[in-house]
Amino acid sequence: MEVFATIEELKSAVRAWRREGQVIGFVPTMGNLHDGHLSLINVARSRADRVVASIFVNPLQFGEGEDFSSYPRTEDRDKTLLEENGCDALFMPAVRELYPERGMPVTIVEVPELSNILCGAHRPGHFRGVATVVAKLFNLVEPDLAVFGEKDYQQLVVIRRMVEDLCFPVEIVGAPTGREDDGLAMSSRNQYLTESERRTAPALHRELARAAGAIADGEQDFGKICDRSLAALWEEGLKPDYFEIRRASDLAVAGEEDRHLVVLAAVRLGRARLIDNERIDLINRN
Ligand code: AMP
Repeated sequence: MEVFATIEELKSAVRAWRREGQVIGFVPTMGNLHDGHLSLINVARSRADRVVASIFVNPLQFGEGEDFSSYPRTEDRDKTLLEENGCDALFMPAVRELYPERGMPVTIVEVPELSNILCGAHRPGHFRGVATVVAKLFNLVEPDLAVFGEKDYQQLVVIRRMVEDLCFPVEIVGAPTGREDDGLAMSSRNQYLTESERRTAPALHRELARAAGAIADGEQDFGKICDRSLAALWEEGLKPDYFEIRRASDLAVAGEEDRHLVVLAAVRLGRARLIDNERIDLINRN
């Protein structure tokens, strides 16, 4: 695997592959890789001739008081894991390489309607930071396809919308959420949990699955389903930011007529903020 710290090196390698007619798949990450990330690499490998990953802890998507400086950085281990999983190139730029002026970009990319709801309402500026860095990375890597985890469902919807609106020539591929045996979605931030918090954490996915089950069983009072789950989460010792049932395609508030839904939730647990979601497709209902 080749490792590039500069834009110039990255571009010349990727351009050479492109000239040979190779299909390029891209997986952007913030590093501290776990099996969820590696499943994205495997999806990219199954669809592309060459796989490029990036590791960049993007200061633009962290709010004041968030964990930018303490975010776990495990670069040597990440390199080994990527190499073992068949990644061809890793782009690992310093902040000044991507944002040479004051470590911040002047131009930003924003998808406001999708960025100020759900997690965006609790993390102002977060999705603007994500959209801006992903747009920039797409322009540098010029991938044919890019793989994102469904675990960060709102992020996936924001990126899809940005790609469609700005005509980026890249296919966005969503990949399923990698979970621990007890259902907890894998996340770098799970490391922030104490032992007892770690035992409490699976309640988040349990409640999402319970809500999805109630909808699949025909329960139509979405407000009541969410209230029940919110109460259960508080009871378990989790502090929910939100628990909502939305339309899967655009995160609009879901109504009885919608068939493709997603239940999304974010909770605070000790030092960690955990997010997860569960999709429901009501294909056999009138
Ligand atoms: P991050 O390093 O947290 O920015 O995540 C990089 C990519 O990995 C994003 O597309 C995430 O959605 C995805 N990802 C993170 N956790 C998981 C998981 N548990 N399962 C699948 N994909 C994930």
